[in-house]
Amino acid sequence: MPKYPRADERFRMVERQIEARGVRNSRVLAAMRDIPRHLFIPPPYDRGAYDDCPLPIGNGQTISQPYIVALMTELLRPNPGDNVLEIGAGCGYQAAVLAALVKKVTTIERIPAVADLARHNLAALDIFNAEVVVGDGTCGYPQNAPYDGIIITAATPEVPRPLAGQMAEGGRLVAPVGGREVQELVVVEKQGGRVTESFHGGVRFVPLIGEHGWEN
Ligand code: SAH
Repeated sequence: MPKYPRADERFRMVERQIEARGVRNSRVLAAMRDIPRHLFIPPPYDRGAYDDCPLPIGNGQTISQPYIVALMTELLRPNPGDNVLEIGAGCGYQAAVLAALVKKVTTIERIPAVADLARHNLAALDIFNAEVVVGDGTCGYPQNAPYDGIIITAATPEVPRPLAGQMAEGGRLVAPVGGREVQELVVVEKQGGRVTESFHGGVRFVPLIGEHGWEN
């Protein structure tokens, strides 16, 4: 028996929206089948929790489209021992998916009321390896660095400069980089003192607002 209700909808979501578009990492697919996305979304929008779209979570913010969560998680190549930083906690769903795949997640949220929602949602599922911090994620979070993975889930004009110094050797960063309306998913890897970038298609995120992001 699956642990949480609406498992049939989650299985369908993974098959039709995520596997069908080419996400193959079996651990990522399993986490997306397990984590009850509907419990992260305030009513009435929770009804559409397994639809192929982002949804409002309050305070003008959104929960990302399931496929984008899966794609970004796969691009991060999460390993069980990893220490990961997320910037833009929102309702905490992406953090919950990551927490199922890595050792420790730190997730930063700018809006205190949204951070409270993430904390509440993670605690309700007994997820203890994800820490929610209120602050400006464009400065990273040096207290828990270095990070094997950094994922930015808000649109940024460029990769915030302080983050490079908080990445572990062999680390990866995934971020939507570009304009306020549309961005491209960028993966930055730090390997043997060299930094490489690759590009993975267009996306639309709410803006990353802060010292090294958008002004407002
Ligand atoms: N990761 C979320 C989606 C995040 S939406 C999920 O799992 O569904 C983007 C979030 O980034 C919003 O909640 C917004 O308030 C937050 N945000 C924007 N700028 C930020 C900053 N500088 N630091 C931390 N959070 C920020």
